[in-house]
Amino acid sequence: MMNNNTNKCAHAMCDCTVGNNQVYCSDHCKDSKDQDIVEIRCDCGHPGCA
Ligand SMILES: [Zn+2]
Ligand SMILES: [Zn+2]
Repeated sequence: MMNNNTNKCAHAMCDCTVGNNQVYCSDHCKDSKDQDIVEIRCDCGHPGCA
């Protein structure tokens, strides 16, 4: 079954949920992908990742 209401952020270490049309919860996660940096934790600043 597919849950179309919420998706998880594409950042491997991020547990934030994103909307239907979003891949990353924030620019931070999006930039992390581009920067080829392996982060040990998400630092997007959202409550679930703090
Ligand atoms: Zn996060
Ligand atoms: Zn994220």
